Amino acid sequence: MRDMVDRTMDRIVPWIASLPEQPMHRLDKAHKLARALREPLPEGGVSFRRLLGQLFERVIPMSLNTAGAGYLAYIPGGGIFHAAVADLIADATNRYVGIWAAAPGLVEIESTVIRWFAAMVGFPATSGGVLTSGGSIANLTAVVTARHTKLGPDFLRGTIYTSPQAHHSVKKAARIAGFPDENVREVPADALFRLRPDALQAAITADRAAGFTPAMVVASAGTTATGAVDPLGAIAEVCAREGLWFHVDAAYGGFFLLTERGRAALAGIEHADSVTLDPHKGLFLPYGTGGLVVRDLGALRRAHQVSASYLPPAQADPDCWDFADLGPELSRDPRGLRVWLPLKMHGAVTFRAALDEKLDLARDAAERIAALPGVEILSSPVLSLFTFRVMPRGSAEGVTDPLAIDVLGRRVLAGVNARQRVFLTGVEVDGRHVIRVCVLSFRTHQAQIDALVEDLAAVLDTLPR
Ligand SMILES: *Cc1c(COP(=O)(O)O)cnc(C)c1O
Repeated sequence: MRDMVDRTMDRIVPWIASLPEQPMHRLDKAHKLARALREPLPEGGVSFRRLLGQLFERVIPMSLNTAGAGYLAYIPGGGIFHAAVADLIADATNRYVGIWAAAPGLVEIESTVIRWFAAMVGFPATSGGVLTSGGSIANLTAVVTARHTKLGPDFLRGTIYTSPQAHHSVKKAARIAGFPDENVREVPADALFRLRPDALQAAITADRAAGFTPAMVVASAGTTATGAVDPLGAIAEVCAREGLWFHVDAAYGGFFLLTERGRAALAGIEHADSVTLDPHKGLFLPYGTGGLVVRDLGALRRAHQVSASYLPPAQADPDCWDFADLGPELSRDPRGLRVWLPLKMHGAVTFRAALDEKLDLARDAAERIAALPGVEILSSPVLSLFTFRVMPRGSAEGVTDPLAIDVLGRRVLAGVNARQRVFLTGVEVDGRHVIRVCVLSFRTHQAQIDALVEDLAAVLDTLPR
């Protein structure tokens, strides 16, 4: 055991140390290299040393450098090392946390983490939740809970409201939960890509008149495409008036609640019935940890609890949670440990400071990029994400062929990424290509923002006049 871990550490330490020098993407010939790994089930074994070499020299490098400091694409995570150590402990001791009675201590550690999250959102003592593998499963668990709470067994006329900018996992969740695709209504957004409460009210009223049963609103606390935060307070009022389940997808933005600016931006989230949070985004954890907190733990339990003769009876004390009754999973990893360990070791203060830094960095980046020639900011950072596009030189706004702007945007994006210091992605917003910057890795600091601005300026310089 020691030998395996020591050898592994001998690989991991230099690998992490080399992150700043690693290219941001290394996917040339990836198809061929990846296919070369296919093989039939091996009958015999090979040495650990050889497999480690294969992983660190051939397999892992063939990738986007998602753990790198310059990763400003999609939603960065980073992957703090403490979580890996927590997983080693959890996996090696292999305790069972699906039911409280099997490992009350580990279950309490996980439910304590969830109570921290619920308190951060502003939920009452009746609240609770469950850690999931990610935001998608958290959204699914919320949709199933809303369906069970607000609709009867015949729910095919039930409708869900969200904005055109909502994460696609909401539609996926609705489909898996059995709703026809068209029952997810995209309520028009405003010029800043936020769901419009007046349009929401109008859509609900129209649906009721047409014989539908409006059941749920999914608002976003930081959209993945543009970083928009829906007007949560006003949407909460519509939900309260109409008796709808109010879910907030805060997978990207939720942990900014630890900061003063984040709390201000996400005001109203405390009125939600349920909130999706993704520790593998805003708490910098490695991929594989999401979470759902609900105002009324009973609603979550009623939606998921099914008994079985081979399991011990459910806990009579509602304060002792059986996670198997709070979501779709039974056997799973004790994922609370990997959230608990870093928070206990470093305290909220460390995470708050890191998140505040990301807010500062995103503002700095947006200001400096806005000052570059031809750049037009499409959405300023509400949290740590903003979008922009580049206007062709000498063009007056509105006169330029929109297709030319899209082509130019893709070219600028490719040019910046080719420099291998930072990695950005683009996104379609209202059918138009825009470039986005999302600052959320714990490894991203001022140096990467400087590199981003330098590289972008250099690429813009190469554009034909
Ligand atoms: C990332 C994200 C999701 C999906 O979460 P996963 O953890 O990737 O499953 C859902 N909603 C939003 C707003 C997100 O940013």
